Amino acid sequence: MSIRRTPRGTTALDRLRERYSEADRTCSKCGFTDDDGEWSAKTTGSSVFYRRVCPSCGAIETRTLSLK
Ligand SMILES: [Zn+2]
Repeated sequence: MSIRRTPRGTTALDRLRERYSEADRTCSKCGFTDDDGEWSAKTTGSSVFYRRVCPSCGAIETRTLSLK
């Protein structure tokens, strides 16, 4: 007998944000890697928009992810 438990208090958005903060911290404009960089995420219901500002050159990186 095995019962699978899903952790509560963690939304899909939290998990996505975590995943994005793990990777893709290198600026595509200047190549600066922001080790402490964090993506800010906001959702519209069907998509998640990520936004990050490069601390070196100020370029704004954006990513869009569709939720299914
Ligand atoms: Zn940059």
